[in-house]
Amino acid sequence: MAPATPEAFDHCRRATAGCLCCGGRHLRGEAQIVSGFLAARAWHGRPEITELVHCQDCGLRFFQRGLDDDEVARYYRGYRDAAYQRDRQAWEPFYTFARHAATLAWSDSTARLDNLRHSLARAKAPAHFNAVLDHGGGQGHMLAAIDADRKAVYDPSGSPAAMDGETYARESELSGGWHLVLSCQVLEHISSPSRYLERIHGLLADDGWLYVEVPNEQWRPAPGGERMRMLLLKALLHWRPLLMAADAISTACRIKFGRLPPLGFIAMREHINYFTVESLGALLARSGFQVEGCGIDNGGQLFAVARKFATTMT
Ligand SMILES: [Zn+2]
Repeated sequence: MAPATPEAFDHCRRATAGCLCCGGRHLRGEAQIVSGFLAARAWHGRPEITELVHCQDCGLRFFQRGLDDDEVARYYRGYRDAAYQRDRQAWEPFYTFARHAATLAWSDSTARLDNLRHSLARAKAPAHFNAVLDHGGGQGHMLAAIDADRKAVYDPSGSPAAMDGETYARESELSGGWHLVLSCQVLEHISSPSRYLERIHGLLADDGWLYVEVPNEQWRPAPGGERMRMLLLKALLHWRPLLMAADAISTACRIKFGRLPPLGFIAMREHINYFTVESLGALLARSGFQVEGCGIDNGGQLFAVARKFATTMT
C-alpha cells in the first residue's frame, strides 16, 4: 500500500482534497481567527478570518490555512526562547512565564517517558532497537525511554541536545534505515500530515516502528448562529484590546470547561490540527503504516504505535 499524498498541496486551502486524515468529503466549516502572534511572526501579517474544518467521518479538526516552508522557518526560529515568550505575551497576556515554564516542565517529565515505554510495550514493540531517531524532538528528551545502540535527534530549531548521541538540524542530512522513529508533539503543527509521514516512511527501515504522540484537544463548539459569529469576529479584527479579551475568555472556557462560550472562537496558533483516535489511525493507515496500538495514554495524550508496511516503497 503506497502512502496517499496529494500531488499538489495548497497551504492556504488545506481541505481542497478532503479530510487530511481519512480523505473524507463530509466536512463542516466554522469561522475562526488567526492569532496576531502567529500572523506577525510567520508572515508579518495581522489577525484574519480563517475556517476551522471538522471532518464528520473521523473527527479531525483542522484550520483551512496552514503555513508554507518559509512561514514555518520564520515561526519556529528561536522557538520558545525569551523573544518568543515576550512577543507571544504581547498578544496573549495569559501566556505567562508560569504557564510557559509549566509547558517546558511537562515536556521534560519522567511521566512522559513512562507513558512512552508503556505504549510501546502494549503494542508488543521490541524492547531494544538498533537505531532510534527522535524526529522534531527538541533536545531529544524522549530518547531516554528507549534502549538502543544508536540514538539521534533531529530538530530544525537547532536546540542543543540534552542527550549523548547524534544531532541534526537539517532534514537533508538525515539518512534512512532507522528502526524506530519518535514523533512527539509534532503532527499537530504540520500543514501536510501525509507529506510529513511520507518522509518518516522513507527514513524507516523496512521493519521499522513509529511512535506518534499528539495532544488530545477536544471541545464543544460555540452556541449561536454562524452568521452572528462571523459578524462579531470581523468586528473584533478592528479592535485589538477587545480581540485579546475575547481570545482570553474563549481560551479559558475551552480549557477549563471543554466548550467555547456563546459566539466564542478558537484562535489559530501553532496547533493547526486537532486529532482524534479515529483520525490518527486513519492517517497512519493511509500513509503506509499498520497501526499496532492507538489511544489515550495515562498522561491524557493521544498516541499511536505503528509499523511500516515492508512492501510499501519500491
Ligand atoms: Zn476525516
